[in-house]
Amino acid sequence: MNTSTQHNPVKVPITVALGDGIGPEITTATLKILEAAGARIEPEFIEIGEQVYLAGHSSGIATEAWDSLRRTKVFLKGPITTPSGSGYKSLNVTIRKTLGLYANVRPSISYAPFVKTLHPKMDLVIVRENEEDLYAGIEHRQTDEVYQCLKLITRPGCEKIVRYAFEYARSHGRKKVTCMVKDNIMKMTDGLFYKVFQEIGAEYPDIEQERFIIDIGSAKLATQPERFDVIVTPNLYGDVISDIAAEMTGSVGLAGSANVGDHVAMFEAIHGSAPDIAGQGIANPSGILLGAVMMLIHIRQADVAERIHNAWLATLEDGIHTVDLQSEQTVKTVSTSAFTDAVIERLGQLPKTFKPVSYQNPTDQEITRSNYVRAKPSNKQLVGVDIFLHETRFNPDQLAEQLQSVDLGNLSLKMITNRGVKVWPEGFPETFCTDHWRCRFMAADSESSIKQSDIVYLMSTLTEKKIDIIKTENLCTFDGERGFALGQGQ
Ligand code: ATP
Repeated sequence: MNTSTQHNPVKVPITVALGDGIGPEITTATLKILEAAGARIEPEFIEIGEQVYLAGHSSGIATEAWDSLRRTKVFLKGPITTPSGSGYKSLNVTIRKTLGLYANVRPSISYAPFVKTLHPKMDLVIVRENEEDLYAGIEHRQTDEVYQCLKLITRPGCEKIVRYAFEYARSHGRKKVTCMVKDNIMKMTDGLFYKVFQEIGAEYPDIEQERFIIDIGSAKLATQPERFDVIVTPNLYGDVISDIAAEMTGSVGLAGSANVGDHVAMFEAIHGSAPDIAGQGIANPSGILLGAVMMLIHIRQADVAERIHNAWLATLEDGIHTVDLQSEQTVKTVSTSAFTDAVIERLGQLPKTFKPVSYQNPTDQEITRSNYVRAKPSNKQLVGVDIFLHETRFNPDQLAEQLQSVDLGNLSLKMITNRGVKVWPEGFPETFCTDHWRCRFMAADSESSIKQSDIVYLMSTLTEKKIDIIKTENLCTFDGERGFALGQGQ
């Protein structure tokens, strides 16, 4: 494949959705700039979002639109409105997960002094895992009092996103990657994320590496954003800190983002459809325009991306601002279309105060980054089971007595917890208990392994005793290493 920055005359088909609210205004403006800059693209329009939801597609996208996305593999997406009401699923989450867009790349850059911000030196990129964590959407009501959302963190998910972050840092001349997790509490899930960060980080000795617990990391981000360069983090933390970071640069209307997978990539603004200003011609098109700049680099039109980005910087510097950027630095407050024309007029110019950007086309390796190779299976031994119960009749000691009064077969009761806190044996009466109990059973002679049939037998004897089982979790060791957390206080 040609990886030079020379002109490639072949037009690249891309899928475009104008979106809802301000979407048509800002996406059309962006396409106009792309065309004027000589982008070699062939847009294919699809309709997604509000009208499609209301026409009866609960996911907000019809089959023909999927066909286009899977054919072109490149998507420039205007912001979408998800109608209120429980029947409508988030289209963004659906597209990301269905098309395997595992990396959400969100640069947050300050444009001081031309855009007012408390943090003039901020220049960082958040690489957010985009497919798993609490966003797996696996939620259950288990008892009258307790609801559960499963946090899934996988080795392939961690390897893909962490490698992406390091490759991104290397190819974009960034010096440091910071991992933000909460592995002091979630030792297995966030612990895996950080472990993979260390493993893969060892392959990138040229990049400085550090870890922050997400709480103090977010506090540092809010007060000293200039100390960060690339941040890699699981889905939920990434969602929260990337919105905060974007807002800190001065306007939510300024940031673009890429959602990248091995097959398809989607580019958009980070902001929503802003219905409050839709149709007024005043929206700032910069977010989706910078998303389109990332798209042009992805499709190896770095030359066009560079022209557009530099013209855009020159426009900001000249004080030509949409209303959201208005400050004492504004020379002229303009409409969406006047801002668009101002960028087009400056194509070919370089900014004078800001450092001009310079882009290279990515190599194949930078585009196809994940290459996950499954390791050989470990030696997995079943050593016990956690049985979760819905129960209000007994206190912890009585519950233990009830459970031990049935034939437990080859298993014995080792521990009962409530919301993760050990309440038997030797619990404290002060511990508040809900109607949701986790009862840990292990081999009667402690360390040895058990069989699935032991669990089935245990469940049948408990059920005969009218114990309300709501779920079970197998307890296993993997190559001798414990694959389950201890109860708090155990
Ligand atoms: P969503 O839930 O879809 O993210 P939201 O209502 O929470 O939507 P936005 O649609 O991003 O958030 O709008 C937040 C605020 O920022 C609104 O006041 C909106 O007018 C403003 N805003 C968002 N995008 C732009 C833009 N491109 N130009 C100017 N103002 C914008």
